[in-house]
Amino acid sequence: MSQMPPDTAPLEHAATVPRGSGFHGPDRPKDVDYLHCIHCGLCLNHCPTYRLWGLEADSPRGRIRQMVLVDEGRLELGESFVRHIDQCLDCRACETACPSGVEYGKLVEYARARIERDFKRPLFSRMARHLAFRNLLPHPSRIAATARVLRFYQRSGLQKLARSTGILKLLGLADRERLLPRIDDSFFFTNLGRTFPASGPRRARVAFFAGCVAQVTFTQLNKATIRVLTANGCEVVVHSGQLCCGALAAHAGVRDAARDLARKNLAAFLLEDFDAIVTNAAGCGSTLKEYDHLFSREEAEHEQAVAFRAKVRDVTEFLATLGLSAPLQPLPLRVTYQDSCHLLHGQKIRNAPRELLRAIPGLEFVELPYSEICCGSAGVYNVTQTKTSLDLLAEKMNHAAATRAQTIVTANPGCLLQLRAGTQIHHTNQNILHVVELLDRAMKTPIT
Ligand code: SF4
Ligand code: SF4
Repeated sequence: MSQMPPDTAPLEHAATVPRGSGFHGPDRPKDVDYLHCIHCGLCLNHCPTYRLWGLEADSPRGRIRQMVLVDEGRLELGESFVRHIDQCLDCRACETACPSGVEYGKLVEYARARIERDFKRPLFSRMARHLAFRNLLPHPSRIAATARVLRFYQRSGLQKLARSTGILKLLGLADRERLLPRIDDSFFFTNLGRTFPASGPRRARVAFFAGCVAQVTFTQLNKATIRVLTANGCEVVVHSGQLCCGALAAHAGVRDAARDLARKNLAAFLLEDFDAIVTNAAGCGSTLKEYDHLFSREEAEHEQAVAFRAKVRDVTEFLATLGLSAPLQPLPLRVTYQDSCHLLHGQKIRNAPRELLRAIPGLEFVELPYSEICCGSAGVYNVTQTKTSLDLLAEKMNHAAATRAQTIVTANPGCLLQLRAGTQIHHTNQNILHVVELLDRAMKTPIT
């Protein structure tokens, strides 16, 4: 393990130094947010990038130190700072490990917002970020149009050709292309505006949050989620006014785009009273539960976001609390579970998915060593930091193979994509499923 570099030695009296050109309002951490860090280092071995490289500057403590120095104007907001912050997965494992209550997720999102405002990234990167966060993700029709183009690429033989001719390697895109999700034959968007009745007596009325890219890559997962909810007595409303949750934009520091999306989702979901707003995507759920962080207390949206967050539930959390009422058929499978970072570290949900899996008769559940460490998916991290993402994935697939489980289960679409790519790259021949997909199989409900 490397020694702490001089520029990351613990800082004393950080809050007494006059501030530089920080943000004001809801984006800016208070001095006390930084001062929670007592430099104890208990987070270090829980941090995936520190575990890989052993560098203080790529540890939670080292990153917080750099954020403080930049905020005070004592460290240049330049390439070195940007690199260390970009290399952070925003997995928030450090939050779970921290005995001092450091809200690292808040701090890194603020640092990224500062970078977005004050640092000029290379032209291609600026264009790609502008395109993704402002021109694509907030617009369902553009997501669908892009997905159709990608589907043509995947189904027409172009993908095979590109892979076999080596052109992807030549363009430096081979690794990224391997992580591209398979586009669905039909998209979930056609279900927006529909209400699915509960089977049997109604136990709850819920709104389903369907995601953005998930609507063109996880249509079957979304349908399975609705089947499991309705089979367990829930009426499910798929609200037509919903948009992307804004998680990817917020994590990238594009907070105005995230705020715009949050405003629209708040307006759509608070029109009606639901028992819960349910999501099957841990990354979305974590952001939806933190919409209040995007607004100052003076803004009307803050109060709305507090009311909204009280209703948001991950589907595993919701079902484990409601209790399964639909009969489960035996599934004689050996199964392991990878914790999704934004479920475990973002939402502090560990037991609910395990309880649901253990409720399936005949299923043999084995814990995955280091399941709390990120698989390398982390939003768009596998696209922006592909090598690190693949290194983390390789370690994950090694641990998963050691469990001898036939199926790896997780609770977030991003993790599903990453682990599916992992089984192909490492030829482990394991099945990758969401918790609700396994429940759906055990319920043997008719496929609609
Ligand atoms: S565990 Fe918490 S207090 Fe200790 S160094 Fe890490 S972030 Fe700071
Ligand atoms: S969020 Fe994850 S990668 Fe970033 S500092 Fe914390 S543990 Fe490390």
